[in-house]
Amino acid sequence: AVKTAEDIKAAIRDMNIGTISLQFTDILGMVKHVEIPADQIDKALAGEMMFDGSSIEGFVRIEESDMYLRPDPDTFVLLPWKTLEGRRTARLICDVYNSDGTPFEGDPRYVLKRVTAEAAEMGYTMNVGPEPEFFLFKRTEAEQGQPVSTDRAGYFDLAPVDTSEEVRAEIVLTLQEMGFEVEAAHHEVAPSQHEIDFKYADAITTADNIATFRFVVRTIALKHGLHATFMPKPLYGVNGSGMHLHLSLFRGGENAFYDPETPDQLSTVAKQFIAGIMEHAPAITAVTNPLVNSYKRLVPGHEAPVYVTWAHRNRSPMIRVPAKRKLSTRIELRSPDPSANPYLALAVTLKAGLDGIKRGLMPSEPVEGNLYRMSAAERKERGIASLPGSLAEAIQALEQDPVILEALGPHVASRYLEAKKIEWEFYRTQITPWELQEYLMKY
Ligand code: ADP
Ligand code: GLU
Ligand code: MG
Ligand code: MG
Repeated sequence: AVKTAEDIKAAIRDMNIGTISLQFTDILGMVKHVEIPADQIDKALAGEMMFDGSSIEGFVRIEESDMYLRPDPDTFVLLPWKTLEGRRTARLICDVYNSDGTPFEGDPRYVLKRVTAEAAEMGYTMNVGPEPEFFLFKRTEAEQGQPVSTDRAGYFDLAPVDTSEEVRAEIVLTLQEMGFEVEAAHHEVAPSQHEIDFKYADAITTADNIATFRFVVRTIALKHGLHATFMPKPLYGVNGSGMHLHLSLFRGGENAFYDPETPDQLSTVAKQFIAGIMEHAPAITAVTNPLVNSYKRLVPGHEAPVYVTWAHRNRSPMIRVPAKRKLSTRIELRSPDPSANPYLALAVTLKAGLDGIKRGLMPSEPVEGNLYRMSAAERKERGIASLPGSLAEAIQALEQDPVILEALGPHVASRYLEAKKIEWEFYRTQITPWELQEYLMKY
């Protein structure tokens, strides 16, 4: 439903809304906001709300710091948990503009809009359905840097083994009140690990939804004395948290990935899209798996991908093609994790796929076996590449991939690389508890 300025003003009157939270994200994907009293709505809708861009990660230098927020009326929604003296709070997601009225190049939402516009020019809309996973840890301990589980449950377990069933149910209800179509919610494989899936939508809507999802989950968890973390690998030796992305291209009302005439019913466009993602996999990983910690998830044996392959059934490759066909024909990209900036992650993924279509790339044969058990020699013989093994490798791959750099645009690319290099340098020079335990006495 497309909302207008008039709808918003009517909602403010009818629903006793006292405050509006104007939101956007920085280049690392952190949601930021400024709250305004509802009587300032005209000014806000006119794009006159100003903020200091030099204080936002990856935005601008102090000399050019005046930036403006332009709310997207479609993103208007009530925050169900927030009432102040009987008055409600609503939020609006905003695009960021320069003082001269041009869109700000450093706004991740604008980066994604540029790439979706490129897809639109080719006749396509990308649909994305995410499967974000997360852990619920005890809050007090989490604040001290300790991931303490609340249960010992596993995949699809229920109460009383899963002690967070009610918390998860409250998260789901809150998301539904905010208009999410939740498709499934369940305990995941690791202790205290959960997953909530919601319905696919176009790329911008899904990126907005992922950003919203993360703060909703954290807010509700906090009410229960828990900390919800989207850190990809908080516990050694068990599954980490992924955020699989189900992707399809639509052309008008038709799914462009579906072709009833081919043996696997996948269209040439689908194959080219897969090939494009495989071609650019190392570079896009720097964005879809942005943390030092992300690479501790991409190891064998925990349902996360390690190699750049695709397959129909098995869950060890980077891309799986679920069995559903017709309108539900899609690919599942399994490498991304939920710490990624959703706008940038979808932008680079779409760009990679579109490049595959433009260049008419075709993927190598699908690899259906369990990749975790394949020997290095066999992988080499079959030309199977590995995903980057560390943030450093991923950063290097991104620096060498002009197509993906172009998707980010020079502003975001340079700020992102700079931030990630600092993060890596900082990590690289740490002395970890593991090293001390391993070496201090032995040497
Ligand atoms: P899995 O097989 O990994 O368990 P699910 O059946 O839970 O996957 O579906 C995961 C996601 O796929 C959901 O978000 C769903 O909305 C999405 N999805 C379904 N059809 C499409 C499509 N045509 N394009 C993109 N995503 C889709
Ligand atoms: N948690 C696994 C990962 O890190 C995925 C499990 C699943 O297939 O849902 O990607
Ligand atoms: Mg899962
Ligand atoms: Mg999945």
